[in-house]
Amino acid sequence: MIILIFFVLGLIIGSFLNVVVCRLELAESILGRSRCPHCKVLIRWYDNIPLLSFILLKARCRNCQGKISWQYPLVELATGIIFALVGYYFFIAADIQSWAETLFYLVSFSLLITVFFYDLKLMEIPMIILWIGVIWAVSYLVFLDWASFNSVNGLLFSKIISGIIGGGAAFLFFFALSYLSKEKWMGAGDAYVALWAGLIMGWPKILLALMLAFTVGAICGIILIALKKKTIKSQIPFAPFLAGGVILAVFLEKVLPQVEYWYSVFK
Ligand SMILES: [Zn+2]
Repeated sequence: MIILIFFVLGLIIGSFLNVVVCRLELAESILGRSRCPHCKVLIRWYDNIPLLSFILLKARCRNCQGKISWQYPLVELATGIIFALVGYYFFIAADIQSWAETLFYLVSFSLLITVFFYDLKLMEIPMIILWIGVIWAVSYLVFLDWASFNSVNGLLFSKIISGIIGGGAAFLFFFALSYLSKEKWMGAGDAYVALWAGLIMGWPKILLALMLAFTVGAICGIILIALKKKTIKSQIPFAPFLAGGVILAVFLEKVLPQVEYWYSVFK
């Protein structure tokens, strides 16, 4: 039941993220009701139900029959599934600390999904979303350290230090890639996404996220080249792979107990 609530919440947030992606692109205010991008008619509330409206309207605007982009149901469904997984793996109603962790992942993943689709669509990183994500991650880490201030763990296990090391290492690595290749392999913006990813994951967990990002990125690159959609020289945005790598790594640790062991090697 709780999973279903998380799923529906994810659908609604996903619907909102679609609006964020579109309005950031057009530099419009996030408030105000949605309009059809073709005929500019206000979309009625019953035509604005996540997932369902897309199916019922057969991907067309009720007014002008203009095509509705696949982006909308895709973002909604992806957000719904990711929210359901966060609810399943992190949320325990009786444990107040799990509420904080759940909220942290829900917000961070929502922002990552926004960056994912925005960069995929426009080959550009929405810096405002990125900095909100960085501030959110730092605040959470400081809160965690403050909450466990009296424990004997000491500095070595401090979350904020682990986050800074993870973020710093990832940032330097991507910054070097971008600098050495004069932004041909990697854009400078990707280095900031890597910094954010490192803050979310911490050290050494960021390594798994980066490995997943590069593996999936390489596979997609090969497929695109094989399909002749891209050549070796063409730019493929990397931030979506980083965002996906972080989300995958967070869940992989929960699914595969081996991951825990793998991390301990790098500590
Ligand atoms: Zn229309």
